[in-house]
Amino acid sequence: MIIDLRSDTVTKPTKYMLEAMMQAKVGDDVFREDETVNELETRVAKMFGKDQALFFPSGTMANQTALKLHTNPGDQVICDKYAHIYNYESGGASFNSGVSCKLIDGSKGMFTAKQVEEAINPDTYYYSKTSLVEIENTTNKGGGACWGFNEIKKMRTVCDENNLGFHLDGARLWNALVEKKETTEQYGEVFDTISVCLSKGLGCPIGSILVGDSKIMQNAIRIRKIFGGNMRQVGYLAAAGLYALDNNIERLKIDHQKAKEIGVELSKLSMIKTVEPIETNIVIFELHNDVNENHFFQKLADKNIHIISMGSGKLRMVTHLDYTNEMHDKLLENLINM
Ligand SMILES: *Cc1c(COP(=O)(O)O)cnc(C)c1O
Repeated sequence: MIIDLRSDTVTKPTKYMLEAMMQAKVGDDVFREDETVNELETRVAKMFGKDQALFFPSGTMANQTALKLHTNPGDQVICDKYAHIYNYESGGASFNSGVSCKLIDGSKGMFTAKQVEEAINPDTYYYSKTSLVEIENTTNKGGGACWGFNEIKKMRTVCDENNLGFHLDGARLWNALVEKKETTEQYGEVFDTISVCLSKGLGCPIGSILVGDSKIMQNAIRIRKIFGGNMRQVGYLAAAGLYALDNNIERLKIDHQKAKEIGVELSKLSMIKTVEPIETNIVIFELHNDVNENHFFQKLADKNIHIISMGSGKLRMVTHLDYTNEMHDKLLENLINM
């Protein structure tokens, strides 16, 4: 039994998901004739109360498309120093859209509306033009933390007052919705564009979706084409998404519970200095300075337990659909005996 807690992307489609995929009705999506893709896009747009949704092969491409839709070359995007768009999209913001990022020194990947106001450049010609605010919910590098919705609403007001777009990287928005008992509609109301992921907590092999109203989304399909994201009979993949929306959202609570239980055991270990607060399915912890990180990794690997380093001495475990009760019991038992 291999226990893989490196990421919630390591899941494999279940028999039932594969059956749903096999039965998909497909067509050429370039001609917009794949009825399963169309169904998924219509459904997700409706969930968020938006006019349009577009299916993407990756979350990175969905986010990069959003950046392009909201900005012109030379513009600046306000985001947290931990933001995925800044850290983990291969410099795409500058490569694809010619924009720079104004990084906010937030807490657990989150910041305040006041910090946004302070980060907006003056409207003077020698400053770059601030055109977009981007936030992440849940935060990835911030350890799966969830935003308070009130702060998000205040930010919307700041965006309106300053004529800024507002994009949500919702790769793990499902986790936040389930944990905080929030709705897709309320998020749709405050953001101009939202990207959501189907291949993390929801267990699909691939897929992200970008939603927004017609005005901002009218160019999205052209940008996706420019980025090389045109697809053909991808209804097979969209069917996995439809299946996941029906079956795999509510169960995320189980992942959150397990993550919290892992946190409790980790904090009892003398080797571990701190365990960051656990809100959803991500556990981030730090070893004491005198504990060798490689040694710690190896000790776990010898027991077929795999975790990942986040750099700066931080280690990460992520619970997911394929992390079973049996694996959980075995992991806790191994931690107790470490
Ligand atoms: C995973 C992730 C993405 C998208 O990643 P892809 O691997 O391109 O699908 C975007 N934002 C956040 C916060 C993520 O965790």
